[in-house]
Amino acid sequence: MTRRKFVCGNWKMHKTVAEAVAFVKELEAALGEAKGKVQVAVAPPFTALHAVARAATGTSVEVAAQDVHWEAKGAFTGEVSAAMLAEVGCRHGIVGHSERRQLFGETDETVRKKVGALLAAHLQPIVCVGETLAEREAGRTLEVVGRQVRAGLAGLSAQELERLTLAYEPVWAIGTGRTATTAQAQEVHAAIRAILRELGAPVADRIRIQYGGSVKPENAAELMAQPDVDGALVGGASLEPNGFAAIVKGALR
Ligand code: PEP
Repeated sequence: MTRRKFVCGNWKMHKTVAEAVAFVKELEAALGEAKGKVQVAVAPPFTALHAVARAATGTSVEVAAQDVHWEAKGAFTGEVSAAMLAEVGCRHGIVGHSERRQLFGETDETVRKKVGALLAAHLQPIVCVGETLAEREAGRTLEVVGRQVRAGLAGLSAQELERLTLAYEPVWAIGTGRTATTAQAQEVHAAIRAILRELGAPVADRIRIQYGGSVKPENAAELMAQPDVDGALVGGASLEPNGFAAIVKGALR
């Protein structure tokens, strides 16, 4: 089964509106032969979403939000709903990022609620899962990731599952320069795919599973050549358009 590779840049708390808009133009120019062959998205901070979506209109670059609240509206100071994200031109929403889990109290339950809210607003969730270094060293990687996948996707229909992307991001590899080996990534990706088969048998082979954690131009092609690695979620190395385009092109090799 061939799945079109999907590479998303997560800018975290970086870039002004002007910087973000300029990036889209430079990225589109740098994508070259990868344009249309690889699905590409960037996740700017909330403040730049509208402007980036406008700048990306007519290009091959799609827009993702870094987070979302699960309620449609109400007294939730500081939060943004899925419908609000859709209105400004977002197509995807990242949920369950390890920084949200570790620093802002994200749980498997809130991930599941956010997935539901994104799907209801016709957005495509990118659901992040991954173990800490202590969990890996204790031999608990597959147990932890399995729990996050099952809880984050609980009760979704096959049609709903098909609309989402998973991102395996070992916490120890995020922003550390330390990347999972191709064998480590493939092992967990295959385990996630096996769970997806249990949850929604016929569609499991169509769901993309991205790898995230210190992906850079030098290691992107090798990681994405693994049979169950269907793209990348890229933090630090997505902040510079030529380097990010080089990562995207790694999906063609
Ligand atoms: C991320 O935060 O999703 C990420 C993978 O970061 P980095 O590429 O910087 O490790």
